[in-house]
Amino acid sequence: MSNLYHNDIYNFEKPVNSYWESTIDTKNKYKTLDKDMNANVVVIGGGYTGLSCALSLAKKYNEDVILLEAGHIGWGSSGRNAGFCCIPPAKMSVKKMFNKYGKDETKKFFQNTIEGSNFTKNTIKEYNIDCDLTGDSNYEVAPHPNYFDGIKKEAETYKKEFGIETKVFSKEEFNEIGHGGNEQYGAMSYKPGFAINPLKFLLGIANAAKNAGVKIFQKSKVMKIEKSKGKFIIISNGSIIKANKVVMATNGFYKDDIFPKLNNMILPVISNIIITRPLTTEEIKSHNFITNNPVLNIRNLLFYYRLLKDNRFLFGARGDLVGSEKSSLEKSKNMELQMKKVFPDWNNVNIDFHWRGLIAITTKFSPSIGKIEDDEIYYSFGYQANGVNTAPWSGNELAKLIVSNSKNLNISKLYKGLPSKFPFPKLRLFYLKLALAYYKYMDKN
Ligand SMILES: Cc1cc2nc3c(=O)[nH]c(=O)nc-3n(C[C@H](O)[C@H](O)[C@H](O)COP(=O)(O)OP(=O)(O)OC[C@H]3O[C@@H](n4cnc5c(N)ncnc54)[C@H](O)[C@@H]3O)c2cc1C
Repeated sequence: MSNLYHNDIYNFEKPVNSYWESTIDTKNKYKTLDKDMNANVVVIGGGYTGLSCALSLAKKYNEDVILLEAGHIGWGSSGRNAGFCCIPPAKMSVKKMFNKYGKDETKKFFQNTIEGSNFTKNTIKEYNIDCDLTGDSNYEVAPHPNYFDGIKKEAETYKKEFGIETKVFSKEEFNEIGHGGNEQYGAMSYKPGFAINPLKFLLGIANAAKNAGVKIFQKSKVMKIEKSKGKFIIISNGSIIKANKVVMATNGFYKDDIFPKLNNMILPVISNIIITRPLTTEEIKSHNFITNNPVLNIRNLLFYYRLLKDNRFLFGARGDLVGSEKSSLEKSKNMELQMKKVFPDWNNVNIDFHWRGLIAITTKFSPSIGKIEDDEIYYSFGYQANGVNTAPWSGNELAKLIVSNSKNLNISKLYKGLPSKFPFPKLRLFYLKLALAYYKYMDKN
């Protein structure tokens, strides 16, 4: 069992005090598993991946599906992220992708990631999910004049190689259509890109899955999976479910416990969000904050932000390395200082909400969607912090794989195959520390 972080971060009983939880009621929507059952497929994890997979299995393929979630539906990262639908789900430069996978597979990867954005948007439309969809593109902002050339190059590569619609803005131009502040030295935009209330979106998919016949159980943590006579025996809340196929959809919250073949492949990284009180019109004007599009400051230790529909300001960044409630509070104080350094006119603005969650980084630096060889265990994880774009689409791809005989998906190689296990997995946080120190150094140069 992984003890990388403090137990506080794995407290499945306690909902995080997120702003999103204050916008919609998540209480008592689903039952807890309390009896033995059978199903063809059991999905473990009730985030975008698990619910989208379960929804597709039930609705498109008429499969008999049970979904088990350890917290309440909405507990995981899918219910507490920043709601940015951005691309690509990889922590790798395009140059590196070209070298490692070739141009064709990289182009297919970008095509798939755009399909991902469209899949998220179409799901919202198809199921009429009211999730405060806003924005028509994503912005990437240069935090210093030195970064502007890089931004221009990225915009050019996206357009030339992948046919993505991009636009470059000088500092002055972006001040007219985006915002001002201390770390704005020009920007680029790309489409598609938008933002949502992530929890409302998740509850919408859950509702659609339930209507399609998926049996959803919350507060039903899977403690153990055994195999007997070719069937999986899944143990949760003292009850047993027998199934032919299981899906690992636990992403960053996986604790290296129930799927030994998938252990030590994920580096869970804490990501934090703070949200201000609603800003006044004067305060918004003071930094010319005109846009509702998601914005990414492209430092190596990046941070991101957006203005919400009630004029609160959301600011997100990488989190701490401890995982306790105390460290979360301390991190939120640091982030408040960071935010106010960038937007100094908001110095007197209070923070109303702060919380955090786990994202999944892997040694592959791109997602993994597939099936364990010679077994009926299916997996999808490692979105490198881009789950709004990727997880619902991946869940749907996984459903195709589960029902097909070919066991091969027509998607880019960047999504295929498992990442290699971390060497000396107990040192994962040490590796992260080293990477962060390096990024900090790079940001100073
Ligand atoms: C603070 C923060 C901000 C983020 N911002 C963005 C963003 O703006 N845009 C973006 O694209 N991505 C963002 N992400 C990443 C995104 O939220 C994830 O990539 C995505 O939600 C992953 O979805 P998932 O369904 O795979 O995992 P999750 O939503 O984490 O779901 C996994 C579920 O598995 C459950 N589980 C774990 N173990 C068990 C078990 N033994 N039995 C039963 N259930 C179990 C957990 O309770 C959890 O609910 C952010 C993440 C965080 C933490």
